[in-house]
Amino acid sequence: MLHVLLLLLLALFSMASVAANQVQGVRIWPSPDNTRVVFDLSAAPDHKYFTLDNPHRLVIDLSNIKGGSNLPAVSGESPLIKAIRSSGDANRMRIVLDLAKSTKANVFALSPTPPYGHRLVVDLPDDQPVQNTPPPAIRAARDIVIAIDAGHGGEDPGSIGPSGFYEKNITLPVARQLAQLIDRQPGMKAMMVRTNDYYIHVNRRTEIARGQQADLLVSIHADAFTTPQPRGASVWVLSLRRATTEVGRMLEQTERHSELLGGVAEIIKDSANERYLAQTVLDLSMNHSMVTAYQVAGEVLQELGKVAHLHKKEPQAASFGVLKAPDIPSILVEIGFISNPQDEKLMRSSAHQAKLAQSLFTALKRHFEKSPPADSLFAQQRAREHRVSAGESLSLLAQRYNVSIDELRNLNQLTTDSIRVGQTLRIP
Ligand SMILES: [Zn+2]
Repeated sequence: MLHVLLLLLLALFSMASVAANQVQGVRIWPSPDNTRVVFDLSAAPDHKYFTLDNPHRLVIDLSNIKGGSNLPAVSGESPLIKAIRSSGDANRMRIVLDLAKSTKANVFALSPTPPYGHRLVVDLPDDQPVQNTPPPAIRAARDIVIAIDAGHGGEDPGSIGPSGFYEKNITLPVARQLAQLIDRQPGMKAMMVRTNDYYIHVNRRTEIARGQQADLLVSIHADAFTTPQPRGASVWVLSLRRATTEVGRMLEQTERHSELLGGVAEIIKDSANERYLAQTVLDLSMNHSMVTAYQVAGEVLQELGKVAHLHKKEPQAASFGVLKAPDIPSILVEIGFISNPQDEKLMRSSAHQAKLAQSLFTALKRHFEKSPPADSLFAQQRAREHRVSAGESLSLLAQRYNVSIDELRNLNQLTTDSIRVGQTLRIP
């Protein structure tokens, strides 16, 4: 009886001592500045590691694992790793990585994330090729300048509503609130063409915007019609047909060229032969401005449509004076019909004015996030993104961009430290 019990105990003991964990696969992921080795395991690893020199080795000791000299087939290779060897018994395993040179290894466990199970990861930074290159330096980047033109002003009241309200007194508060929202946004700066109730000639408005090197001119107006029925907002961009005529007229005024063309004009002499070239350059500039204006107009309509009735759902083309600057993308927003009693009442309400300003801001911000000028803060922020390639880990990226793993995790709302190839991470 005692013998049987002892035998049973012995059997139980030996069963318990056969470790459940096992190395199921070995994958090597080389990248220009790091080699990652992943051991796929059937359970969470219990590990210790150390490095040896002459020759360079990384030694990993695993407990509670079925060891031996037979590792599964290794997939992938790296110039950093000369060989991977293993030894051990039923309960222990020692893995030795023979390395081509000294490296500061980082060994850590990863919990299962489909399609992978438990893993032991070895990151071997290769400081020779890339590691010494500092992360992209943070350059001083400029703000995107939005010139906001509150229509009319001073002795020019603009259109007058049925209740006697002036257009100039609607355009200014909307413009001011839009400017506030823009100024609160890092990377954007507002520039008010008129800051109070005074008159500025239409030509002078575009000159003011140009003087501030505005990236966009937004002119705010309210529509009017001879009958009270039409209502709703619309967005206008420069019409090409009239623009071409305007360009022709500008070309006849030689002294205006340099102002309109910036640096380009200095190399264009206004001789008959070169007139064609000047025309082409102006057209190119005009096309860029018009394409930009058209895109902005689309975004603005999309947002305005959420807070206001739309008179026209597509950008409208016209030749308003304020839209004629060929070098500054310009849009004219009619925020509603002041000749429509319902619209007039709405536009007079500060709550509606705030909604209009907010929708304009959202649209402008989205446009410049999509297409930021190359030297802007928006462009720089967009560049601070990283597309994950094979063999990269969160810890490696944190090291490369000189940020903490926590910052990376928080900014990208990661719940685990595992990242996948092709994933785009924002870099703080
Ligand atoms: Zn107007």
